[in-house]
Amino acid sequence: MNTIETPRIALLGICDKVVITNLNSDPLFNFSNIYGLKTFVNSYIFPFPLQDKEILLGIYNPITLEKAEIRIADDLNTEIAKTTVQIQKINGEQIAKIHQENQARTFGLPEYPAWLIYSIKFNGLISEPGQYKIQVNTIDDKWTDLGRFIFNYIPKPDLSEDEIATIKSDPSATKTVNIGIRCKNCQAGLFVYSSIERKKEQEPQYTWYKELPESFECTCKKIRFECKYIKENLHAFLGSKGKVSNLFSLI
Ligand SMILES: [Zn+2]
Repeated sequence: MNTIETPRIALLGICDKVVITNLNSDPLFNFSNIYGLKTFVNSYIFPFPLQDKEILLGIYNPITLEKAEIRIADDLNTEIAKTTVQIQKINGEQIAKIHQENQARTFGLPEYPAWLIYSIKFNGLISEPGQYKIQVNTIDDKWTDLGRFIFNYIPKPDLSEDEIATIKSDPSATKTVNIGIRCKNCQAGLFVYSSIERKKEQEPQYTWYKELPESFECTCKKIRFECKYIKENLHAFLGSKGKVSNLFSLI
């Protein structure tokens, strides 16, 4: 008979970043700074790389969980990406070793039943805007819905002459955006750029965004998506102040 209590897992939201901080050496007092927690994602382009976000779970009495699979799936339950949550009880010496070897995070587990705030990352692409489910598979080998996120597409009109002049005159404004999406398995990739002025010297390494094909499929067929959102909207990042060039390497 399985006496392990069924774990209770709550989907708290999706966020931009989680920074785990500890004011002293006891992991029991680790706390999370959570940036941009929400139940939706706005994006200028699709595919959207899931590795840019963290998904926040609340796990009740986590030591009873041991292991669970969490996945993101579309409305038809097609799996997009999957990860494993594994809770292990370790001692102080093991903590340092684990931190050196991998990305595992340590938390203090109280002796009494309590909620643990736990974040996970997926490695995958959301190809289309829409609603997506987060599901859990625990001891009974059945996928159960934890909740949903909406991925919104935010189209932006082409830049006007005035907007281009403003971007040119601002030294901190982004003037060129390069993105790459590459399959880790077959190494085939799509490399694209947008800029306030077309730069022929970047081509053919990077394709001018308006000249992309209708769709992309890597050689091993693990990655496939429509290019229409990049074609329509990659210029939306121009003028922004943050770093937007990115290379997405995906399995
Ligand atoms: Zn591939």
